[in-house]
Amino acid sequence: MTQNYRITLLPGDGIGPEIMAVAVDVLNVVGKQFDLQFDFQEALIGGAAIDATGEPLPAATLETCRNSDAVLLAAIGGYKWDTLPSHQRPEAGLLGLRAGLGLFANLRPAKILPQLIDASTLKKEVVEGVDIMVVRELTGGIYFGKPKGIFATETGEKRGVNTMVYTESEIDRIGRVAFEAARKRGGKLCSVDKANVLEVSQLWRDRITKLSVEYPDIELSHLYVDNAAMQLLRAPKQFDTIVTGNLFGDILSDAAAMLTGSIGMLPSASLGASGPGVFEPVHGSAPDIAGQDKANPLAQVLSAAMMLRYGLNQPAAADKIEQAVFQVLEQGDRTGDIISPGKNLLGCRAMGEALIHALEEK
Ligand code: NAD
Repeated sequence: MTQNYRITLLPGDGIGPEIMAVAVDVLNVVGKQFDLQFDFQEALIGGAAIDATGEPLPAATLETCRNSDAVLLAAIGGYKWDTLPSHQRPEAGLLGLRAGLGLFANLRPAKILPQLIDASTLKKEVVEGVDIMVVRELTGGIYFGKPKGIFATETGEKRGVNTMVYTESEIDRIGRVAFEAARKRGGKLCSVDKANVLEVSQLWRDRITKLSVEYPDIELSHLYVDNAAMQLLRAPKQFDTIVTGNLFGDILSDAAAMLTGSIGMLPSASLGASGPGVFEPVHGSAPDIAGQDKANPLAQVLSAAMMLRYGLNQPAAADKIEQAVFQVLEQGDRTGDIISPGKNLLGCRAMGEALIHALEEK
């Protein structure tokens, strides 16, 4: 029997529409192969939404997302909107979407694919076999804490303020997601904080340690964020699953991303307690290459695979997409960001065609 899914597509800005087009083609092909019918609804977010409606996240977009089974997002942002006040900038749309759907857990895998080992700037022996999952808290911490703003002091000097805040329940719920993720992986969890300086981190460490009693099969360790950044570059294979707050997770997941050689390869999933998840590449809108058919669509395509696996419970279709990505890399197809001598340089569209060919071949 055909399974029907309502999928909200948020192409956003920059390279977003180019990479989304490839992901939709791929989904349509695997849909036919696995008897899945996708009802795609496109909605506005980010700069594109600002231009059309004045708002980075129009109410209609949030409503469409809420009424769908999953949301596939590309990327938002660009030079054009960089000078707007922060609440009107494209990034506010992304933060609003995460908060509006209650997406508190961001799962970012960083796995070295054997075909791309030379794309990493680190030595082969350092990165070979790296397979890390960064679980980042997404709706709390310093990005949302109050007070926030730029205020004038009595002397007329301006003062910028943000507040890093976590409650016990916020720490516990992200902790549980991370312990569960570690259980499905290598059974090791490293919690990253700055407990030597920040009180909010002392509470974080205390709660994660208490929670670990419920997960005796998981080997828990703690690292300060500065050490974690060093260890990620020095000996990344020591990590299996990492759990951390919003700000530290933002930075560390990008660092983990670069171990793999290209930010254009990395998908992510953002999940809440219930309702649709949002699946999106880790990278941004790459305005420097937008509209030039140079973007790597593989992170977007792998995000569609994560959507099938974690959002729609269709692991066989997800596997098929991941195998197609593996195959195009195996046959030497590369976009500019992951090119190496002797490989075939393809644009975004041609990479999409190679994927379709790989999917239809088997
Ligand atoms: P970026 O990820 O857009 O780009 C960083 C570098 O990586 C650029 O050189 C870019 O060309 C390259 N790159 C990124 N994705 C690529 C891909 N798929 N294929 C090939 N090359 C790729 O980060 P940035 O330059 O710091 O930010 C650009 C804009 O994106 C900003 O407006 C920023 O706010 C926004 N941004 C959005 C998100 C998101 O939508 N989730 C995330 C990060 C940044």
